[in-house]
Amino acid sequence: MHGKEQILGPLFQEIFNAKVLVPQDMNTDIFGTFSGEVPRKKDIKDVLRKKADLGMRISGHKYGIASEGSFGPHPWIPFASCNQEFLIFKDLERDIEVFSTVISLNSRADSIQIQKLSEAQDFFRKIGFGSQGVIVRPPENLKNCEKYIFKGLREFRDVESAFLQIKRDLNVQKIVIETDNRCHMSPRRQKVIFNSGQLLVETLCSLCPECGVPGFEMFDYLRGLPCSECGTRSDKPQKELWRCPSKNCTYQEERGRLDGLQSLDPSECDECNP
Ligand SMILES: [Zn+2]
Ligand SMILES: [Zn+2]
Repeated sequence: MHGKEQILGPLFQEIFNAKVLVPQDMNTDIFGTFSGEVPRKKDIKDVLRKKADLGMRISGHKYGIASEGSFGPHPWIPFASCNQEFLIFKDLERDIEVFSTVISLNSRADSIQIQKLSEAQDFFRKIGFGSQGVIVRPPENLKNCEKYIFKGLREFRDVESAFLQIKRDLNVQKIVIETDNRCHMSPRRQKVIFNSGQLLVETLCSLCPECGVPGFEMFDYLRGLPCSECGTRSDKPQKELWRCPSKNCTYQEERGRLDGLQSLDPSECDECNP
């Protein structure tokens, strides 16, 4: 739904010679929507799992992928807002789930409240209005105004007519214009979903050295990178921990850091350079 298959399809076609199909009559809006009519569930992995299960049940296929995006505060950078795109791949035969997550500061939810349409000019420039769609709606505190939430607008004349209709019918001072963050309305988000798809495909190409199942991946770090001068252990990652996604295989592996670093520079050591 919402054109994600057009983003992920080519990736799966190229790497696995597999087609990404969207089952008919699949309405994933029951799992929550961006504009807030259906509240979104908190546990993203669980939502992904249920979406993929539903798709596989409807289509009868043994492989399923599902996507879920979120917009909000950045998990580590204070005061920054971001877009996170999550994907799941499920394989019923091998009984595995493989996830991927990508965070972007470039794709974000933006909104303004305005009294006159001319106040939205900078906002439109900032979000790239035209390729990026918007939603025009009454302020949050107004109830029972669903039919006054105008989504998917990319033409100025549509924004204008929505704006005027809300003003006229509801007699409100301020009107909200916000980015429509649904995939087909947001080129910035499409890029993040593509990147998440690339990561998912990459992870699926990584096979467990023990049982050969796809999705062998890093899940944590072993911390304690020692100082090259005094040997004191820091809290920086020393090794990567990898594991197999199969419940029948408990194989795990320690691997050296991707950058090859084996010790900490004394300038970063708390003992040598307090
Ligand atoms: Zn394995
Ligand atoms: Zn040191």
